[in-house]
Amino acid sequence: MWRDLLPLGRHPGSGGYRRYAWTGADAECRAWFAAQAGLRGLRLDVDRNGNQWAWLGDPADGDAVVTGSHLDSVPDGGAFDGPLGVVSAFAALDELRRRGTPLGRPLGIVNFGDEEGARFGLACVGSRLTAGQLTRDRAHRLTDGDGVTLPRAMEAAGHDPDAIGADPERLARIGAFVELHVEQGRALDLSGDRIGIASAIWPHGRWRFDFRGEANHAGTTRLADRRDPMLPYAETVLAARREAELAGAVATFGKIAVEPNGVNAIPSLVRGWLDSRAADRASLDTVVAGVEKAARDHAAAHGVDLDVVLESRTPVVDFDHALRDELARILRRDGDHGTARERIPVLGTGAGHDAGILSASIPTAMLFVRNPTGVSHSPAEYAAEDDCLAGVAALADVLEGLVDR
Ligand SMILES: [Zn+2]
Repeated sequence: MWRDLLPLGRHPGSGGYRRYAWTGADAECRAWFAAQAGLRGLRLDVDRNGNQWAWLGDPADGDAVVTGSHLDSVPDGGAFDGPLGVVSAFAALDELRRRGTPLGRPLGIVNFGDEEGARFGLACVGSRLTAGQLTRDRAHRLTDGDGVTLPRAMEAAGHDPDAIGADPERLARIGAFVELHVEQGRALDLSGDRIGIASAIWPHGRWRFDFRGEANHAGTTRLADRRDPMLPYAETVLAARREAELAGAVATFGKIAVEPNGVNAIPSLVRGWLDSRAADRASLDTVVAGVEKAARDHAAAHGVDLDVVLESRTPVVDFDHALRDELARILRRDGDHGTARERIPVLGTGAGHDAGILSASIPTAMLFVRNPTGVSHSPAEYAAEDDCLAGVAALADVLEGLVDR
């Protein structure tokens, strides 16, 4: 499976993946998913929001157990974020068949569309739509960097954009969703464990800061006469770092757009996107309020106008306690398959996931696989083969435990 996925959407220069929603690379990943489903005799089903589902058993029977993740990527992303959960899902199903596990419940494998939000700026579009956390109207207004709207992009990829929207009937048939994911941090590496269970996802959000000044000649405009938006922007970046340190949170300006973007021109506009995450809502609010105050003070000092726009906000996700405890029990118990595990760490994470979106609608849990460097959203993202295989074994045990309860 990895060999077939390896070249899809890989940029020859960076070695990273550019699998953006509704592009050619995305279509290739979807074709790969459909082929894997076909090889295993699973029934493929594409929902109204473009998410792909592969079913063993009839989901109409209800109380289905579903696993999976996403195949899209951030710009120059790594191989594991998303695909590890999908590949492991198919591999875990193969393992259950090898064991001869009887399936008392329908089993589904899902590939959620547009998880990273790399193209349209909003993460988890596929699962948000399905869970009713993103309206059709708002989704129809999403636009990529080239001015292409989400509906046009969907249409170009052969999907009906007018069909998108909440899908409560589909979610009502699912009794549990388990997403396996490469860890995006070093907690498992530091504790010496291959596998962990998620406790919670930190609340997080994205804010756009528009600093508007005045374009002018970089050679002839006196410093005193400038309204240079780059200066308050620079101060704001430093303030984000300071506020995050004070709150024990994280805050990042990782994307910036400059107009006119000329090496010999004072900018007229600097637009920077703040991503911030913290252990609780109050800490997150404190960080963002501090960054915004610094931005306003420095903008005023430089005669620059400022607009701050909230683009998305995701509340804290506390995964279903009963399901989490059940996973821990299944994973710890002595199995027949030599997979007994002494301890299973339970970790929080600052990264968002489709599992976090679905947790508002259905019992949801996550398994993390060790990442030896913690690096993610980069071509250097990595998980060792032995750890990936331990992930597959753990997921197979979990699915087996859930389908025959
Ligand atoms: Zn992911």
